[in-house]
Amino acid sequence: MDYVYGPGRNHLFVPGPVNIPDPVIRAMSRQNEDYRSPAVPALTKTLLEDVKKIFKTTTGTPFLFPTTGTGAWESALTNTLSPGDRIVSFSLGQFSLLWIDQQQRLNFQVDVVESDWGHGADLGALETKLSQDAAHTIKAVCIVHNETATGVTNDLHAVRKLLDAYRHPALLLVDGVSSICALDFRMDEWGVDVALTGSQKALSLPTGLGIVCASPRALEASKTAKSVRVFFDWKDYLKFYKMGTYWPYTPSIQLLYGLRAGLDLIFEEGLDNVIKRHTRLGTATRMAVEAWGLKNCTQKEENFSDTVTAVVVPPYIDSAEIVKHAWKRYNLSLGLGLNKVAGKVFRIGHLGNLNELQLLGCLSGVEMVLKDVGYPVKLGSGVAAAAAYLSNATPLIPSRI
Ligand code: PLP
Repeated sequence: MDYVYGPGRNHLFVPGPVNIPDPVIRAMSRQNEDYRSPAVPALTKTLLEDVKKIFKTTTGTPFLFPTTGTGAWESALTNTLSPGDRIVSFSLGQFSLLWIDQQQRLNFQVDVVESDWGHGADLGALETKLSQDAAHTIKAVCIVHNETATGVTNDLHAVRKLLDAYRHPALLLVDGVSSICALDFRMDEWGVDVALTGSQKALSLPTGLGIVCASPRALEASKTAKSVRVFFDWKDYLKFYKMGTYWPYTPSIQLLYGLRAGLDLIFEEGLDNVIKRHTRLGTATRMAVEAWGLKNCTQKEENFSDTVTAVVVPPYIDSAEIVKHAWKRYNLSLGLGLNKVAGKVFRIGHLGNLNELQLLGCLSGVEMVLKDVGYPVKLGSGVAAAAAYLSNATPLIPSRI
């Protein structure tokens, strides 16, 4: 029972949690079952094989933790590092900030590389640090691929090239929470050592699965890493993988069936088509923002995110009002500005199981809200710009050709 019912569908345009496709909801609507029976291990085996495809890895080892992105962070760090280890971590928005806070609380020695919010990771600063670290005191480089607070996508390939240029052995740990399964992500090709995501983002599942994938080098590091870990210990999982039963503790059976259905949908569309769809949705959103005469929080085109756009509002408008009003009047859910950009930006999440017409619905809602809060927007301007682009760019639905 909704405690605040609104007619029609909620237009859910926060950058996670996102819309859950109906086949996934149906797949999850089932009884509990004995996870020690042959059925759950058989299902898990297919999931572990298939999640590798969304990380674009053949050599990685995935783990499906009953957790969120935050737990997946902790798993990545504690399995590969020891207290006191020096790491480099980029601060450029709320989620990179929270990860750094976790890194510090886990007692790593963190070299924080700051960028102004709206800018990408400062790779020049990383290069300086690598060039001065002949003794290889830096044990890991941590980076958020897509900073969800500002809509900034970082260039992971460039990070790998820097590490290689200095023949530096630091592990590359990547938060792919709002990128994996939506943006171009290549674990093997870019030499990512640990990649992670959460089920409620581009995978379009409920919250509750933290998916972590470890490279062979990361697995090797886990054998000597001294950080205390229990719930997130890869060793326990690996023991059960070997036994073929897969689970050291009770998995969420329903989420596993949901993941199966979600992956099937992604493979039916084709992962590369899913990524192209996100490129279209991101491009269309940015065109609308430009047509409204508003600015993207992200300063450089090379960092524009295809999963979330943070829109800067004029100083006389409180962006939190926009978000509140959108929900109250139009049943449209937009993302708030967080921390340093609270009140200054609102966010349009355009990731996951989403199509062009849904996005146009959101954009028309945003226009009405902008007008309501006193911004001089020409109704239809953003929608027209986005629709003109989408009507040319949208291909036939792959399964209907
Ligand atoms: N990393 C990024 C980039 C995120 O956007 C989020 C949440 O939005 C997190 C980590 C934290 O994930 P969770 O809220 O699932 O713990």
